[in-house]
Amino acid sequence: MNLILLGAPGAGKGTQATKIAERYGLIHISTGDIFRANIKNGTEIGKLAKSYIDKGELVPDEVTCAIVKDRLTWEDVAKSNGYLLDGFPRNLFQAEELDKFAKLDGVVNINIDFKLLMDRLCGRRVCKECGESYHVSTLNGATTCARCGGELYQRKDDNPETVGSRLKVYEEQTAPLIDYYTKKGIILNVTGTEAPAEVLFEQVKALLDDLAKRA
Ligand code: AMP
Repeated sequence: MNLILLGAPGAGKGTQATKIAERYGLIHISTGDIFRANIKNGTEIGKLAKSYIDKGELVPDEVTCAIVKDRLTWEDVAKSNGYLLDGFPRNLFQAEELDKFAKLDGVVNINIDFKLLMDRLCGRRVCKECGESYHVSTLNGATTCARCGGELYQRKDDNPETVGSRLKVYEEQTAPLIDYYTKKGIILNVTGTEAPAEVLFEQVKALLDDLAKRA
């Protein structure tokens, strides 16, 4: 089962992705995580990506598409039940490129009220080790991950100015993909709320269990 996870920044894609990948035995591929790993390791791709990420803009399509195309050829993907793309595609060009080298079964689209996102993203803290996300309001001052003990940090692009750009990019470039995949008949809509991630995952699970039966 090959899936895409679609949703605005802060909609909870990362958290849902971990849960989906675990339940259905899928390889989780996050372009944002790939770029952040490249930045950390000081690679050429990392240097290029950083200049865009820091401004809340998209990394050029040719670079991003090449990374994903290559990643899908890795052995772990071939040996798994499929993959889950998180943060890719981000615009119509990327979606059309993806159609050339991938066969998709479903697109989970997390709809969420935009008003919730600024606070969610600016208050987000992420584990350096396992990537788990938290919100400062629920941490009670904790600075380490409850799951693995890793150190929590604030992503550099989780500041009001960059978040503003990222939400604009989402509205202008990524939101049209909802229509693109609806027309293909593979969209699976769920509604994100302020409720815990488990509540949203119940909706996701109901749709994906059904899809898995048919796949
Ligand atoms: P994310 O972790 O998905 O929020 O991505 C963080 C940043 O990485 C985005 O704001 C973009 O600058 C960049 N990025 C991630 N995925 C893509 C993509 N598919 N195309 C272009 N840029 C991307």
